[in-house]
Amino acid sequence: MANLGFQAVYRLLAADPRVTADRAFLPDGARAEWPRTLRSLEQDRPLASFDVVAFSLSFETDYVHVLDCLALAGLPLRRTERRADAPLVMAGGPATFLNPEPLAEFVDLFLVGEAEDMLGEFLDRAATGGTDRAALLSAADGVVGAYRPDRYVPRYDDDGRLADFAYDGPGSGRVVRRYVERLDRFATRSEILTDGAVFGDMFVLEASRGCEWGCRFCAAGFMYRPVRYRSAAALRPEIARGLAERRTIGLVGAEMASQPGIAALCQEIADRGGRPSPSSLKADVITPALARALGDGGARSVTVAPEAGSERMRRVINKNLTEDEILRAADWLTAGGVEALKLYVMVGLPTETDADVDGIVDLALKVRGRLMAGGTPKVGRILVSINPFVPKPWTPFQWEAMAPIAELKRRLARVRRGLSVVPALQVETESPREAYLQTLLSRGDRRIAPILERLHARPEAWWATLKRLRGGREDVVDPDRFVHRAYEPGEVLPWDFIDHAVDKRYLASERRKALGELQTPPCDTHTCHVCGAC
Ligand code: SF4
Repeated sequence: MANLGFQAVYRLLAADPRVTADRAFLPDGARAEWPRTLRSLEQDRPLASFDVVAFSLSFETDYVHVLDCLALAGLPLRRTERRADAPLVMAGGPATFLNPEPLAEFVDLFLVGEAEDMLGEFLDRAATGGTDRAALLSAADGVVGAYRPDRYVPRYDDDGRLADFAYDGPGSGRVVRRYVERLDRFATRSEILTDGAVFGDMFVLEASRGCEWGCRFCAAGFMYRPVRYRSAAALRPEIARGLAERRTIGLVGAEMASQPGIAALCQEIADRGGRPSPSSLKADVITPALARALGDGGARSVTVAPEAGSERMRRVINKNLTEDEILRAADWLTAGGVEALKLYVMVGLPTETDADVDGIVDLALKVRGRLMAGGTPKVGRILVSINPFVPKPWTPFQWEAMAPIAELKRRLARVRRGLSVVPALQVETESPREAYLQTLLSRGDRRIAPILERLHARPEAWWATLKRLRGGREDVVDPDRFVHRAYEPGEVLPWDFIDHAVDKRYLASERRKALGELQTPPCDTHTCHVCGAC
């Protein structure tokens, strides 16, 4: 409900006089307490009575919930089993835009990329024909970015590797992801403010898409290329609108310290009695003015993301960030009045050694030392959030295997042990099993459909189900094939039929640079053409 992309799409649909749009959500609570039928929120209509049921998917782990929603709507899960009069099932959002294949057996139509222009084009075509499923599917033909999985038949070699897709439809079958060149054309902000939702206490604004830094693990840094920033002139009226509703203004982007004019905008929010809350800050681009503005606005906690503990590991992932820069940012934030820092780091990154893992402990201790030296007794709280690395499509690390679960557990325990003696330092970790599921759903192809059906059938036993299937039992593809297998350099990847804008050869060269611990400078979108996105 809080997701900005979902809210932006809902606003576009609600503003279109040809469309009656309503929202529906998977119910909270235990499955036994769910209603018998999923109905829409405003009109209280059964989902199956709509012409289209569309899902906005930000996270791969929501794929099981797509099946839950379809079942609760009384619709057959697989697209081939739905009748001609069933609603068209559509999906979009960043998770499917990275790799739609895990849902290809369940979804009739994907819109790949940023929705703003593409959705309007689809509606223009749909409005001229019928509203039955076949007519709506035909309306998608010719919409750049529309992907109909029924037109693609994957073929596999004797080793089970994807060989190619047989395509039956107009054009070449290449799906070109869409993006919006000038973000200022569309405001993306909180549309529905409710205290009951996550971030309900803040008015959230999208400030940028993509990121100029090219961290090699980060899907957002590649899928949204080239980086685009909203202008301060476009953001100011939205901030004013937000301040009329809420005191906290959430400024959302992959990396907010690089936003042109960010310090002045945050200071303006603070001067008007508001609290600026940027989503994440790259430590070396934090300035004293930004730190002061955050402090003046009452931001007591700030998130910085070193991503890795050691300088070596940060070179591998192309973080372009030294320890001195991190510590300098801690000094400035403390001087500005910030009392707590949240540090995001990962374990299990390619080439990681125990020395790199220990680097996380060292870095956290040094940052804490700086915060303590900065001042008041309240100062110095640190939350270290540690996630296992999940290799993502569209990144230079898309070929990498996820580290073995036992190894990830060992490394997480090593960090926890190292940090356990430090007061006022909290550690939170994501479980390696959840990372396994995320990797499966990120790197999988459509053969994992039966796995999703099993997870939907017994959600409480999701790990037991995956464990049982590992090793290729029960006539279902072995999930380890997608999680713990490094993809070969020349291998056809499940998402290769999408034109990513970023050249696959560029991703491969970035991977080679990672292994050589070589850094790539940040994007200069005025002069550079190296990856193909500009
Ligand atoms: S072409 Fe250059 S500036 Fe543009 S997104 Fe690619 S690396 Fe960045």
